[in-house]
Amino acid sequence: MAGIVVCGGGVVGLCAGLMLAEDGHEVTVLEPDPTGPPEQPAAAWDDWRRGGVAQFRQPHTLFPRFRQVADAELPGLVDRLVDGGCVWVDYLESLPPSIEDRTPRPGDDRLRFVTGRRPVTEAVVAAAAEAHPRLSVRRGVRVVGLVAGPAALPGVPHVAGVRTDSGAEVRADLVVDATGRRSPSADWLTELGAHPARVESQTSGFAYYTRYFAGPEQPRRIGPQLAPLGSVSLITLGGDNGTWSVTVFGPTRDTPLKALREPAVFDRVVGACPRQAHWLDGRPVTGVLAMAGVLDRYRRLVVDGEPVVTGLVAVGDAWACTNPSAGRGISVGAVHAQLLRAAVRAELDDPAGLVRAFDEATERGVTPFYRTQLAADRARIAEMDALRAGREAPPPDPVRAGLLAAAVHDPDAYRGLLETVTCLALPDEVLARPGMAQRIAAHAGEPPPVTPGPDRTRLLELLSA
Ligand SMILES: Cc1cc2nc3c(=O)[nH]c(=O)nc-3n(C[C@H](O)[C@H](O)[C@H](O)COP(=O)(O)OP(=O)(O)OC[C@H]3O[C@@H](n4cnc5c(N)ncnc54)[C@H](O)[C@@H]3O)c2cc1C
Repeated sequence: MAGIVVCGGGVVGLCAGLMLAEDGHEVTVLEPDPTGPPEQPAAAWDDWRRGGVAQFRQPHTLFPRFRQVADAELPGLVDRLVDGGCVWVDYLESLPPSIEDRTPRPGDDRLRFVTGRRPVTEAVVAAAAEAHPRLSVRRGVRVVGLVAGPAALPGVPHVAGVRTDSGAEVRADLVVDATGRRSPSADWLTELGAHPARVESQTSGFAYYTRYFAGPEQPRRIGPQLAPLGSVSLITLGGDNGTWSVTVFGPTRDTPLKALREPAVFDRVVGACPRQAHWLDGRPVTGVLAMAGVLDRYRRLVVDGEPVVTGLVAVGDAWACTNPSAGRGISVGAVHAQLLRAAVRAELDDPAGLVRAFDEATERGVTPFYRTQLAADRARIAEMDALRAGREAPPPDPVRAGLLAAAVHDPDAYRGLLETVTCLALPDEVLARPGMAQRIAAHAGEPPPVTPGPDRTRLLELLSA
């Protein structure tokens, strides 16, 4: 068994730590934020300060894929989430009325999932981590660099531990970078004398405006969680303990949207959207929370087939992150942690083999989610820009448009679409299923579903009134 240091105690770092501790490793999670979760998860929204996670109070949902990984790797975690006030969500309960065949299908249960606000879900995961006998979470400790050990591959630095901000060294057989979107690992690698990792990075270009509400009943869902509406999109998310959130987002360069920071303007815009307006029927528990400047970033520690370092791997957002509107970061991060567990089981004694095996599993199992998200975001931002400028929007990706159009009428296409949205499957997997091409062909040429709401002219009026 190994000593493993996880840098970063966010949701994915903690899940990875828990999985590795379950396999018998001694895991130490080092987290700079000094305070642990409150005893009652529901209190985390008000009481838990997490300066290390900029998006802590931004809208978050978990997905069926998170539940699937949790059930397989961390049994009992979903029950803990429910005990903490998280809610079950089943998108099959809000099948579009245009789908006539409403009979259940085998496997429908896997589309159900449990979700809650980010502070509450993280508090539950953190409590599970802190209760684990082989996992220690040391809070108030920042990792500032790596400790070199004897090379496992000629000319490639090997990591044998980390240095912390108090000047201490923490030795480890494996170091896991789970420091999130702003991972400082590029600097750590430079100091170690490693060749640079392969990095792709750009701003995703979206600005988010969110309000949280509370009430005795979750709003009824009519339409998808993420609804494109002309030059903006809306996200409606159920939350824990009688809460929910509504988000409007659009390109950062769409400056009139800044008026959405004003709660009255926000409510006016959402109130003009027939499928989302009733999500305002609750007690507002926040003003409008705004966030922009979110980066898409991908880092790969294997370049031209060779590790740039051994003894170090990156999981979750420290590996890759995108525009978050699809709500996939934690689900993809959980899958990534699951892949790490498998790679450690197979290759712990071979540092170079471990980095290679994890890289291959990452490229096969999670990089496609990153790539499809980037493509979807680019297409959507181009569409928003065109609609804002009064130009015709570029034609949509025909494959995705075909699946969307078929999902309006066909129960199995709808389930396939849900699987792609919630990370249970990649679009190619769904499209390759027997009969799916025919289902899509049967609706070829039909327009994709349109979310009713204000057009650009009316939106500008609502923003400026
Ligand atoms: C606006 C917004 C909305 C989102 N909505 C969703 C959603 O609906 N669903 C979803 O699944 N995902 C969503 N995400 C993405 C999700 O927040 C991330 O994917 C998730 O937090 C990644 O977890 P992580 O543990 O990898 O990183 P983080 O949660 O960012 O945690 C990183 C941790 O590392 C610590 N750290 C930083 N530097 C150091 C250091 N030097 N040493 C040690 N520790 C360090 C930080 O303090 C922090 O605790 C959203 C993101 C944003 C920005």
